[in-house]
Amino acid sequence: MRGFLITFLLSGAGGLVGVRVVAWLDQRYRQPPVSFASDDVAYFPRAVMLRSGAMALVAAWASILAAFLSIALASLGHSATTSVFVTLLGLFFGCASLYVAVAALVRCPKCDMRVFSQPSLPPYPDVFAGLTGFGATALRVTMRSQFRCVHCGQRFVLNSAFPIGPA
Ligand SMILES: [Zn+2]
Repeated sequence: MRGFLITFLLSGAGGLVGVRVVAWLDQRYRQPPVSFASDDVAYFPRAVMLRSGAMALVAAWASILAAFLSIALASLGHSATTSVFVTLLGLFFGCASLYVAVAALVRCPKCDMRVFSQPSLPPYPDVFAGLTGFGATALRVTMRSQFRCVHCGQRFVLNSAFPIGPA
């Protein structure tokens, strides 16, 4: 019971810190003075890196979901799931680190803003499969090989075979 209370209080505090961090990041956000929303689709130069980061985020989600599933299985009496849980947790942290590294490195070539670093209300918000924010961008990159920069509105493709019109 006590352990539950501590977990509950810690997650509550974590939630509050998260809200404050998002508010602080939103306050610091400066919309780029340029807009490329009506420009032709361009080829994204660091496609491999962007795709790896997006896939790492999707894999991190999948592994944390599977980790929770293994806890559920463990509570049903399957004792062999501890090693599975540890493996999944390791996979999650590995993929999450890769995603964070890519998110810090990959910038939009048009507006020089970080593609995966997004405020709560970006100038060109993206929605994909019911998700918003960097999750939507990551899923669109992974599944469609295209995305729109939420900061300047420039549309990109990750496939070099795509015919590119005049910029
Ligand atoms: Zn941009």
